[in-house]
Amino acid sequence: MAAPPNPPPPSAAPLTRRTFLTALGAGSAAVVVSCSGDGDSTGSGTTAARRRATTTVAIPDVNLAADPFGLGVASGDPLPDSVILWTRLVGDLPEGAIDLKWEIATDEGFATVVGEGIATAEAEWAHSVHLDVRDLEPATEYWYRFSVGDFTSAVGRTRTTPADDDTPDELRIGFASCQHYPNGYYTAHRAMAADRLDLVLFLGDYIYESASSPTSTRQVPGGETVTLDDYRLRYATYTSDEDLRACRASAPWVVTWDDHEVENNYASLADQNDQVDDETFAARRAAAYQAYYEHMPVRLDPPDGHDWRIHRTVRAGRLAEFFVLDGRQYRTDQACNDSDDAIVPAASCPELGDESRTMLGTEQESWLSDGLRDSPATWKVLAQQTVMSSLVLGDIVLNVDQWDGYPAARERLLRHLADHDISDVVVLTGDIHSAGAGDLAVVDEAGGRTPVAVEFVGTSITSSSLVDIVPGGADLVTPDKFPGIAYLNVRDHGYGRCTITPDEWRTEFVVVETITDPANGASRVDATCVTPAGTPSVSLV
Ligand code: FE
Ligand code: CA
Repeated sequence: MAAPPNPPPPSAAPLTRRTFLTALGAGSAAVVVSCSGDGDSTGSGTTAARRRATTTVAIPDVNLAADPFGLGVASGDPLPDSVILWTRLVGDLPEGAIDLKWEIATDEGFATVVGEGIATAEAEWAHSVHLDVRDLEPATEYWYRFSVGDFTSAVGRTRTTPADDDTPDELRIGFASCQHYPNGYYTAHRAMAADRLDLVLFLGDYIYESASSPTSTRQVPGGETVTLDDYRLRYATYTSDEDLRACRASAPWVVTWDDHEVENNYASLADQNDQVDDETFAARRAAAYQAYYEHMPVRLDPPDGHDWRIHRTVRAGRLAEFFVLDGRQYRTDQACNDSDDAIVPAASCPELGDESRTMLGTEQESWLSDGLRDSPATWKVLAQQTVMSSLVLGDIVLNVDQWDGYPAARERLLRHLADHDISDVVVLTGDIHSAGAGDLAVVDEAGGRTPVAVEFVGTSITSSSLVDIVPGGADLVTPDKFPGIAYLNVRDHGYGRCTITPDEWRTEFVVVETITDPANGASRVDATCVTPAGTPSVSLV
């Protein structure tokens, strides 16, 4: 589906408004700038914000039989002066676009509303809203909500990033991935919501495309997702979960995808088992990408068919810069046979050595190289999908879908860090349903390792861990079997929690007691890893 035409730019509205409000002594107030896809919310939002010193925006009078806010609210891709506010209306809705009121305040009780306006939920984007609220203060906590007819949404908490030239004392972030809904309850999201973090990174496998089985802990309606309606239903089922809604409403999210947002182990326009032609798979990918856009609080133009650039950066002043990567859309097809997640003896797979194999594609790879070299931030963070550390046992490459299947591309990236003295690079990863930590090294011809970065891998929110699949797996895969690895947990479910300061990066691996009892939300820190600034090493403390 083609994107609707972009709305006209908001001209000099923020400056005019700021001057106007300063003159009134009204202090801070927010205006909204629409992302394309939000129809005419630019005009009405800006006008409403300009008027708010004297008027209050009325809640649009829409006759709704039931609460349309069943998917909750979210915010994302923050800037020092802006954040994207998201919701999607669901249920029995009237035809066409629906207007709704938005509000943002500096307190949870909305005593001090600093911005309000009208947003438009377009039917062609599944009644989703992606509002770009501007003129906020840096490093500041806000609360927001939407209203339509007789209904008001849950209240979301969000936070702007520090000013670009500021070095905050501390940033607290979470990272998570792999939330197979049929496999269990989102107790890990409940724990992460309680942390009230500055930022949450979601690193992929937000949904799984396959149907649930009768023995699953939870059921999802529908079979394997293929069409736009299929993907919309799957996203709605997942997002309606109470704990996930709480976590999305607890902090700004910065998201990327992995494979299951479309299909297991897809690569570019190649489906996993090469069962369909590129054109057929492109249509499926376009449907999947559109549904992803409709459900995520992203500062992105809507997808253009099956192509959608999502790699981008988010800055936290001079403390950290997050490079959000897309390791799916542009990659070379997996080497040799990945049809059953097969393990591959390296010697039988000369294709692995092909220098032209790419994980990120040429354009994204050079964008990343330049960005890492030029970043003004201390910590340069790769928020990405698949494990970069080498997981090879003897001659066996455990997973050719990971960076181990793209060794030349990994070598180019790590050599680039060494060649340009780029320090304090942290790779955050999902995908493998196991937690781990270690350093990433360039390796010389004699096998000598020179660490140049560190990697923290988060375990799954719910998706099956190695121990879930292979009882006793924890004895097979131990840290000592892999160079550079300091910590492994192939058993538990949870998320990573990081405290970032100018001197140190600290990752706590939070695990939950159970994912099969929704009444038990207990969690604990399984391990804490520390990386001092300037030294690419990981110590367990
Ligand atoms: Fe997964
Ligand atoms: Ca995956």
